[in-house]
Amino acid sequence: MNNDHSIIGKDIHHSFSSGETTNHVLKGISLEIEAGKLTIIVGPSGSGKSTLLAILSGLLQPSAGKVIVLGTDLWSLSRKKIDQFRLDNCSFIFQGFNLFSALTAKEQVILPLQYAGVKDKRAQQQAIETLKNVGLGHRLDARPLTLSGGEKQRVAIARAMAKDPKLIFADEPTSALDSRNGQIVIKLLHEAALTFGATVLCVTHDPRLLGHADRIIEIEDGSITEAYSQKKEQV
Ligand code: ADP
Ligand code: MG
Repeated sequence: MNNDHSIIGKDIHHSFSSGETTNHVLKGISLEIEAGKLTIIVGPSGSGKSTLLAILSGLLQPSAGKVIVLGTDLWSLSRKKIDQFRLDNCSFIFQGFNLFSALTAKEQVILPLQYAGVKDKRAQQQAIETLKNVGLGHRLDARPLTLSGGEKQRVAIARAMAKDPKLIFADEPTSALDSRNGQIVIKLLHEAALTFGATVLCVTHDPRLLGHADRIIEIEDGSITEAYSQKKEQV
């Protein structure tokens, strides 16, 4: 395989069935996503973006097709191995932040590090460093209630980046934010790709984010309509 392509999707189909009706949501998606780049999959609401992201990240088994991630045929693995693969390699960022209301910013970031087996002191240091990287060095002890939406999403990004994941998946990470905070968040995701070499895949319906992408894949009604690279802008 070409090592630059850390995610390869081959002829992915997916249908949701309920009772008599079947909704054919993904209709033969093939794509390649590169490491060290921010790739944005953009398309209108209902076009299948979240379904595709879930399939590429090992959360949802496709009806048909293959997903090769870091050289591994993901859906040929057992459930348990897929879970372990995600734990070892993947981080997720969602629209709704998913922070624990009782924990401080620092604690939110420490938690998954401890879960990944990082020792206390090292986890503390790593959490503080990562929060500083996203501009929250002064908010280490703040709880979600006292953080703005933009700050909350930056905590979620710090939490995602702290374990130095190979793959970062973001589903509409800016849609609960105003435009200025949306720009800050997408820039941080771009930096995660450029600086740490992570494969960053973001799905969104928001065309205002596209200026930050290295590669753009357009999806409509379950099919890719365009895929193109664009020149790196300064971050
Ligand atoms: P997007 O993220 O682009 O808005 P989704 O992937 O969420 O699109 O949804 C694509 C289509 O699949 C929609 O018609 C949606 O209603 C349907 N869908 C998504 N998830 C489910 C599910 N768990 N069960 C049934 N239908 C679903
Ligand atoms: Mg969605």
